[in-house]
Amino acid sequence: MVARTIPVDAFDLVIFGGTGDLARRKILPSLFRRMRAGQMPATARVIACARGKMTRKAFQQMIREALLEFIPRPEDRPDDLLAQFLEVLDFVALDATGEAGWAELGEKLRPDTVRAFYLSVGPALFGPIAHRLHETGLATADSRIVVEKPLGHDLPSARELNRQLSESFSEHQIYRIDHYLGKETVQNLMALRFANALFEPLWNAQHIDHVQITVSEKIGVEGRGGYYDKSGAMRDMVQNHIMQLLCLTAMEPPARFEPDAVRDEKLKVIRALDPVPIGDTVRGQYRANGTTGSYLDHVENPDSRTESYVALKVQISNWRWAGTPFYLRTGKKLRARLSEIAVMFKEVPHSIFPEVSQRRGNALIIRLQPDEGITLRMTIKDPGPGGMRLREVPLDMTFADALGDMAEEVPDAYERLVMDVIRGNQTLFMRGDEVEAAWAWTDAIIASWEDDRARPEPYDTGGSGPEEALALMHRDGRRWREIEG
Ligand code: NAP
Repeated sequence: MVARTIPVDAFDLVIFGGTGDLARRKILPSLFRRMRAGQMPATARVIACARGKMTRKAFQQMIREALLEFIPRPEDRPDDLLAQFLEVLDFVALDATGEAGWAELGEKLRPDTVRAFYLSVGPALFGPIAHRLHETGLATADSRIVVEKPLGHDLPSARELNRQLSESFSEHQIYRIDHYLGKETVQNLMALRFANALFEPLWNAQHIDHVQITVSEKIGVEGRGGYYDKSGAMRDMVQNHIMQLLCLTAMEPPARFEPDAVRDEKLKVIRALDPVPIGDTVRGQYRANGTTGSYLDHVENPDSRTESYVALKVQISNWRWAGTPFYLRTGKKLRARLSEIAVMFKEVPHSIFPEVSQRRGNALIIRLQPDEGITLRMTIKDPGPGGMRLREVPLDMTFADALGDMAEEVPDAYERLVMDVIRGNQTLFMRGDEVEAAWAWTDAIIASWEDDRARPEPYDTGGSGPEEALALMHRDGRRWREIEG
């Protein structure tokens, strides 16, 4: 089976910070793959901007090297296609906060062509660049502007950023990326829920015991302790990525699969979140082990109380979810790199197999990484004679068999998202009010920790988080799923 690809219109994509890590590692390799898939036309132009002076040739060489590094298999980047892609690239030396380069950029942009500005620079430059684009007339009424986390540090700063962007761009032009929303499985969660009649009748507090959302990382904060220590797991992961997963799991079916219909429903979920009592939160900091240092070794402040791990028990006060908690956890230096949503169904109301004790309900596991896929845990009869023995088996929906070649290469989230920007489809992007509502909720939790002044609980590197996080579940008679890569 061959994937259907509809080419997008010709476009001019300007990447501010086009020589930086995000551009070289994600944005440009994703564009290359879209060209390989036949979606990005050769008439497209990608103009990178950065302060460092370099020729167009030198920039093309830089990106050639990036593609060799980040698309390692030669068969995935045939020479002729590589050459065609590099031809699309251009470079303008430009200072976002100064005068240099803006006129040259303006000369390169084509009229009557879709225009998108990707701000792959630090967030302090978002407002000034938006302003200059407006002031110089480079931003037309149809232009798009793309920004990515961190979208503020708290509610007041997020409001200020939204205000600055809205001075120069309308909301329908602003694309706030959360790359989790571009993942195939996350979109499949919506398909699973809203294109199948099977799950939705069960998707509520009556049938679902609880939901677990886990984003665990093996790496620590080595090398980026300065940034991370000002942020912590709550701001870095919960306010954005985990919140988005929570919203898509919990939201009501939107009336249409259209940007505002979907985003209205997500916003309602955030607004229905109860404040979280401090007793339903756990913060942790990883310890040193024989080979690597502790969190406190990796940041400048030896007394830092910033959390590298957080677990929360969250209640959603609405008709669908009242009484069914969502347990969220994320942390660094854990056993494995894993992101998943586990929807844990209730047990059968009455077991006719009394000899089988401790039955567990069905579980639907939506795995984002590694190996994107969906698994349904079922109970079946153990094969063979000798009585009715039951066992739990996974019904695996990696879609590999059904989709053949199409399933072999799961597109990177950025491939989907950048093409959606060009197509002008905001469904998978966050709206300003959504970001603000998420900050309002997380700010209250962070404020309660600051008042409390307790230290985060230490936890072992390579483990599954602090003991207190296990206790958060145990006291409700539940337990976390194993963190396995
Ligand atoms: P980076 O590697 O430090 O790159 C920054 C880029 O911005 C460079 O090209 C730099 O080039 C340019 N730049 C800096 N100041 C400028 C100015 N005044 N005018 C014009 N260009 C300027 O950073 P990054 O990792 O790519 O991250 C960029 C943004 O994306 C950050 O906000 C980051 O938080 C966010 N982000 C990054 C990732 C990631 O995986 N890297 C993931 C999610 C979000 P010059 O110094 O030559 O100007």
